[in-house]
Amino acid sequence: MVAQLEPILARSRRIVFFGGAGVSTESGIPDFRSVDGLYHQKYDYPPEHILSHTFWAGNPKEFYRFYRDKMLIEGAKPNAAHLRLAALEQEGKLSAVVTQNIDGLHQMAGSRTVYELHGSVHRNYCTHCGKFYDSTAIRNSVGVPRCSCGGIIKPDVVLYEESLDQQTLSGAIRAIRRADTLIVGGTSLAVYPAAGLLQYFQGEELVVINMQTTPADRNASLCIPLPIGQVLDPNVTLEWE
Ligand code: ZN
Repeated sequence: MVAQLEPILARSRRIVFFGGAGVSTESGIPDFRSVDGLYHQKYDYPPEHILSHTFWAGNPKEFYRFYRDKMLIEGAKPNAAHLRLAALEQEGKLSAVVTQNIDGLHQMAGSRTVYELHGSVHRNYCTHCGKFYDSTAIRNSVGVPRCSCGGIIKPDVVLYEESLDQQTLSGAIRAIRRADTLIVGGTSLAVYPAAGLLQYFQGEELVVINMQTTPADRNASLCIPLPIGQVLDPNVTLEWE
């Protein structure tokens, strides 16, 4: 925790948390956009290209090779940030989590109202008959995952070129509109629709917790450039200038 943030949390009644990849990196889930050296030995295309609808439709075998390798992280557990946000909701202080992550860690931590803008790896559907599959079905599959009916199983994850789920998006907007405090965490706000959603916020305090600067910083009442798990951990005390 940081001394400047706690009084804001204490007096807020309808906090909305808007988070990105940085929230999950402390749970061992790498940001797929941060391509490492090993990556180029294994894949011929940049991740944004592989995670597009066109690529999924045209090169499903390669799509699922990447997906199993980079998007399905086994054994990931919620970190202190996920747990604190779930606790704030339970205390009646936080009304929603809006996330760009697809790992389901907020729900695993106990959060109930979670708007997953980009979907979830934990939901997968047959493109032919609509049958539901969990993530183990994809993890344990070889090549292109197939339903018992023969159809391809597709993750309920929003790929590049695909549009966001309208119900999820409007729920997120409604929550942000009603929020008294908006905490933006672990996101550089570079990816659509992140920056756009912030314009609906009309509350008192905008807090940004991110290692790098973001476009929201200039409107924020507090910017904390520290790891979010530690910032939200009530058992850790951090100070910075
Ligand atoms: Zn099917």
